[in-house]
Amino acid sequence: MEKILVNDILQEASRWGFSLDEQKAKLFVKYYEILLQENQKYNLTRITMPESVLEELFFDSLAGFLKAKNKTVEDLVDLGSGAGFPGIPLKIYFPDLKLTVVDASQKKISFLRFLINKLDLNGINLMHKRAEDLGRGPGRETYSHVTARALAPLPVAVELALPLLKKGGLFWAFKGPSALSELNRAKEIVRRCGGKHIDTITYSLPRSKKKRIVLIFSKENETEKIFPRRAGIPQKRPLEKIIYRMQE
Ligand code: SAH
Repeated sequence: MEKILVNDILQEASRWGFSLDEQKAKLFVKYYEILLQENQKYNLTRITMPESVLEELFFDSLAGFLKAKNKTVEDLVDLGSGAGFPGIPLKIYFPDLKLTVVDASQKKISFLRFLINKLDLNGINLMHKRAEDLGRGPGRETYSHVTARALAPLPVAVELALPLLKKGGLFWAFKGPSALSELNRAKEIVRRCGGKHIDTITYSLPRSKKKRIVLIFSKENETEKIFPRRAGIPQKRPLEKIIYRMQE
């Protein structure tokens, strides 16, 4: 396994134009080591080259928030966090963040439990749960920020995320170049879940030049009672498909 040093993290930060202190950089070094060491056991990621982990996982997780105008985040729920993205890098960057991490995979949650113990991170609530169940139950209209990266196509992610937000809250959808066409397909579900698309943050990864788009939605109204539908249904029958069928 290739080693990375605190200095590599600090250099990466300056490549992105972000400021980062040494203590946070040390946490990212540890995160990298634990991610690689546990990767086989938990089947976490295909991305293992040091520079790819730094730009595609760690710093890409921070970019949307650090490039946005409003940088204060009090509480946040990260849906389908997998090996921790973007939730854990955000927690490292904003140590006071009240973070809830939700993943349907027990394996991922076990890894995250191991990781946060090793990194000695406090104030994280790990939930082995489906986002649909959280949104139909205790998490409904509750949080001020929701993030999702590589969780599902946008019409599905919106149905999982928007019900969790309280009024005035924000949903940050981390996307690739397909974001804008997905946005078009998600219009109806965004409206019915009480959301509004308010901002788009576009950037490229500094080395690979891969394009990234973070779509930001605000919660304007309460979500209609029927959303999110039962676990598995948003994925199986995205609302856009039903609409298309009705138009045919
Ligand atoms: N956000 C991470 C992982 C993406 S993979 C990253 O960007 O690297 C998608 C993750 O979402 C998987 O870990 C999967 O278990 C989880 N997931 C998929 N559907 C879900 C749902 N309905 N509720 C909760 N977690 C879900």
